[in-house]
Amino acid sequence: MSEITLAELEKRYGDTFAVEDVSVTIEDGELLCLLGPSGSGKSTTLRMIAGLETPTDGEIRIGDDDVTDRPAYERTTSTVFQDWALFPHKTVLENVAFGLKMRDVAKDERRERAREMLDRVEMGGYGDQDPTNLSGGQKQRVALARSLAVEPDVLLLDEPLSNLDKRLSEDMQIELREIHEDVETTFVHVTHDQDEAFTLADRIGIMADGELVQVGAPDEVYENP
Ligand code: ADP
Ligand code: ADP
Repeated sequence: MSEITLAELEKRYGDTFAVEDVSVTIEDGELLCLLGPSGSGKSTTLRMIAGLETPTDGEIRIGDDDVTDRPAYERTTSTVFQDWALFPHKTVLENVAFGLKMRDVAKDERRERAREMLDRVEMGGYGDQDPTNLSGGQKQRVALARSLAVEPDVLLLDEPLSNLDKRLSEDMQIELREIHEDVETTFVHVTHDQDEAFTLADRIGIMADGELVQVGAPDEVYENP
């Protein structure tokens, strides 16, 4: 768990402001949804928190650390992307254990923690399978388990449910909410889907044209869209 502070965050590409003057504090253990149409700057904001893009101005703090100029691998964040990006030549269990291997966790412990995470996302029976055989929803559960296995302070989710059909997406929203309560990690979840944001979020940050135009609890932003 960790509080995230974005202070006057900016990302410019040439003359285009992808993100402009975004300031917000995301509380420890909170689930914040960034909601807005395509091109409004949600993904760029998330990628800057992850360390995958460098801000052109402003500051990012995670807990007490100023991470603005730190590379992704020095941050305590973990990211789930829209296209699950599992390794096709590794088993499901090896996929989930991969991040732990990178962090030099011993083999037995890696397998135990990976199994635990697979159970948590209800994929306990699939450890030995090839991920290419899984359905979209199952792949996204495995990707989620892989990101959570390293016990990040912050989980960043970039449209993780957008490639699933509506029914499955709705089921996964409820599961994500339960997993969030279970792991006590700060989640920042990007979506263009209003219903998804209202189901999931503790607070919603509404983005438009690169700016964060409103932040509040779902019932507050709903009153005043
Ligand atoms: P969203 O996630 O809300 O769809 P993005 O953060 O992807 O929005 O993009 C915000 C704006 O920044 C868009 O106008 C997009 O075209 C632009 N943009 C994003 N990445 C780049 C890039 N690498 N180079 C140039 N423009 C970019
Ligand atoms: P999203 O809306 O989910 O961010 P996009 O299709 O807008 O997805 O962007 C996909 C990738 O293309 C991102 O890495 C983004 O940085 C890059 N990108 C987006 N817009 C531009 C652009 N105008 N010029 C160059 N790269 C871009």
